[in-house]
Amino acid sequence: MKKILFILIWAVQPILAQKTIIHCGNLIDVKTLKVLPNMSIIVQGKKIVLVSSGYINPEKGEKVIDLKGKTVMPGLIDMHVHLRSETNPNAYLDRFVKNPGDQAYQALVFGRKNLMAGFTTVRDLGGSISINLRNAINSGLVEGPRIFAAGVAISTTGGHMDGTNGVNQYYTKDLGPEDGIINGVDDARKAVRQRYKEGSDVIKIASTGGVLSYAKDGMGAQFTVEEVQAIVQTAKDYGFKVAAHAHGAEGIKRAVLGGVSSIEHGTYMTEEIMELMKKHGTYYVPTVIAGRSTADSAKIPNYYPEMVRLKALAIGPMIQSTFGKAYKAGVKIAFGTDAGVFGHGKNALEFELMHQAGMPALETIQAATVNAADLLGQSEMLGSIEPGKWADIIAVEGNPAESIQSMSRVKFVMKEGKVYKNE
Ligand SMILES: [Zn+2]
Repeated sequence: MKKILFILIWAVQPILAQKTIIHCGNLIDVKTLKVLPNMSIIVQGKKIVLVSSGYINPEKGEKVIDLKGKTVMPGLIDMHVHLRSETNPNAYLDRFVKNPGDQAYQALVFGRKNLMAGFTTVRDLGGSISINLRNAINSGLVEGPRIFAAGVAISTTGGHMDGTNGVNQYYTKDLGPEDGIINGVDDARKAVRQRYKEGSDVIKIASTGGVLSYAKDGMGAQFTVEEVQAIVQTAKDYGFKVAAHAHGAEGIKRAVLGGVSSIEHGTYMTEEIMELMKKHGTYYVPTVIAGRSTADSAKIPNYYPEMVRLKALAIGPMIQSTFGKAYKAGVKIAFGTDAGVFGHGKNALEFELMHQAGMPALETIQAATVNAADLLGQSEMLGSIEPGKWADIIAVEGNPAESIQSMSRVKFVMKEGKVYKNE
């Protein structure tokens, strides 16, 4: 017995002891918003064990990663992506010809693009395939970012997420809570419980119309306050937070009053609603780049159906100024892009657009780390480089405090202690 125990300890010991020292030219402290020069991070296994000033010399058997010419920061978190798809002129046809298997392969590739762009964690807000991809990544079968998945989004009949909007009668079906379509509070509760059963991490609702759905209205309210409340209360029972897609003011207001944790897009948010969000502690996930790129795509002939084109041109360009006002008003901001509505891996452009709208560069990074981790309910393990947290660490060329464009030049990616990129 003693002998077996000794062999066991002997076998495990080097794995436990193996440390990696990362030498950082600059290290962004995302909590104090300071750029600290000449720092060292020690990683052991999947976690950070030490952060210290100066360059610590390795002891025997310890590995050094040299990032002295780079700026190091926590792995980024994108609170709004759709890994199953990516915008293209055939997107509306894809719905009729592609199967879940096709989406799974797409999600695998798109997930990897997010990871390589420095997004070690993403919140996927729609599409059950991300639950499967999350499981495959967590079990080590495939590589990708850490995923918090909403699974099927919840909407009303004819609402933004009703996938049978506008199709001919051959494909039309009266969808129910199992499919994410609710009418009334009983349906609302069932839809949340169904998501629990399927393995969702978070609940996504569409509280107003949207740009890309094949429906005329892109901003009208689509739930009653009672329906939102029923969703939020049931979600709490299962440990879920609720993210609400919303463009029009009335739908944003109902979602905030109903108790959701975040408003996504928030295009026509009024000053009154900003105050309401501050009072309720509701986060704003702006997705400025999604508005920008859908408006750009709308200028390409035949890219979207006519009905969608008109909405994209009207709603898309407005998000940036709404974001600027919400930031100045003091609404809590978490970084999110809606990647998939534009090309996966270009997420970092959002930092530039946020900065343009008046948010200081380091605060945009805080929104994608500290704030995003808070909105995920994962502050204990994610969102900053501190001992005890997951070793999710990235490095960029240049200093984002001086040039925000450097957020698009990610040269090093580590997730849970494993290096995925080192250029
Ligand atoms: Zn979205």
